[in-house]
Amino acid sequence: MNAEILTIGDELLIGQTIDTNSAWIGKNLALFGIQISRKTAVSDSKIEIVTAITEAFKRVDFLLVTGGLGPTKDDITKKTLAGFYGCGFRRDESVAAHLENIFARRGRQLLEINKQQADVPEICEVLCNEVGTAPGMWFDQKGKVLVSMPGVPNEMVHIMENRVFPRIKDRFKTPEILHCTAVTVGIPESLLSKQLEDFEKTLPPHIKLAYLPALNTVKLRLSGQSDDAALLKAEMTGYFDNLCEVCGEAIFVREDISPVKYIARQLIHNKIKISLAESCTGGFIANQLVTESGISKVFNGSIISYANEIKHRELGVPNEIFSTVGAVSEKCARYMCEAALKKFNADIAISTTGIAGPGGATDEKPVGLIYIGIATAKGSRVKKYHLFGTREQFMQRAANCAMMLVKDTLLQEFGVH
Ligand code: AMP
Ligand code: MG
Repeated sequence: MNAEILTIGDELLIGQTIDTNSAWIGKNLALFGIQISRKTAVSDSKIEIVTAITEAFKRVDFLLVTGGLGPTKDDITKKTLAGFYGCGFRRDESVAAHLENIFARRGRQLLEINKQQADVPEICEVLCNEVGTAPGMWFDQKGKVLVSMPGVPNEMVHIMENRVFPRIKDRFKTPEILHCTAVTVGIPESLLSKQLEDFEKTLPPHIKLAYLPALNTVKLRLSGQSDDAALLKAEMTGYFDNLCEVCGEAIFVREDISPVKYIARQLIHNKIKISLAESCTGGFIANQLVTESGISKVFNGSIISYANEIKHRELGVPNEIFSTVGAVSEKCARYMCEAALKKFNADIAISTTGIAGPGGATDEKPVGLIYIGIATAKGSRVKKYHLFGTREQFMQRAANCAMMLVKDTLLQEFGVH
């Protein structure tokens, strides 16, 4: 079954707010067998909203709308919906009581403009919003369902999870949809597709393979659809195993998570301590690691040694290195990771030194050159890479390369698969 999303708000069209709501809705509705076939963004304008709804209902029976439900004058979605359905307003007592309750708890005066949030189009069913002041609304007219939700992401999520999902099950008959995703690192999409040519031919029409490249990773996603949930699960498991077998070493993780997140989890699970000495990545890799909860068990700290003086003073890199081979060199990377290993009493230490660009290149050392070192109690090694892209992309690619080194080391030296 197909559905559409309509996001409303001037801020979405001038690039002030990125539309994360659609991404969340698309991802989560897929779990109910509902595919988003189109999403539209419009400004806070009556004519735009009405036109978008009218057009969408020519194509689908289910439309999810977010935005434009604030109490201020610029938000006009509720009024426009009442106009669209040709109905008046009623005051919803449960919403009114909820508003009084929140304002009392926050010690704020309930103004008339706030009270009006309890006024809803007569024909809608209210979808309670316990985490905010604007209620969601469910309209079901002439076989077409429209759900209107606030734009605030956590309020939209709350209403979707607690009010919309249960209603979807009752209202629509939907097939089972399953996705299985694996992440590869460092192998171009074209090469992967060549490797998977024969495998793709074995896929039945209801199971599809998608390639999702991003920087130096490619996600491989198998998506299957069927009315028979148990059969689909068994089929998907089989095909996904085949896919991972064909790709072999190219598969970094058999889950839809980032390489850094996967490594962080492996380190935590196996109680292997990591530290870093980062130059060109300026703490980026450490920052990515600490987004994983529980990392404190295996991460004591790291050092951002951006200047040579810090590399020398804090990590003991000899000054001759800078005056001979330079800071962006294999030797410097090796000193850095070895020192970080000792300084932070870690089992694995990573170092980065390179040229993120766009300036700073020389004839021998182009933009994108980076040395990544890895040290353990057994010794150290350094790999040289040529990465490309903006500074942000350079850092993300560097983090992924570093994670490949850690994964390899975990396998070779710690027996972690
Ligand atoms: P509204 O319901 O129009 O009052 O939206 C309130 C807030 O939600 C605004 O500050 C927006 O930045 C945010 N917002 C609105 N639409 C979206 C969207 N599609 N994705 C993410 N945030 C949004
Ligand atoms: Mg708005």
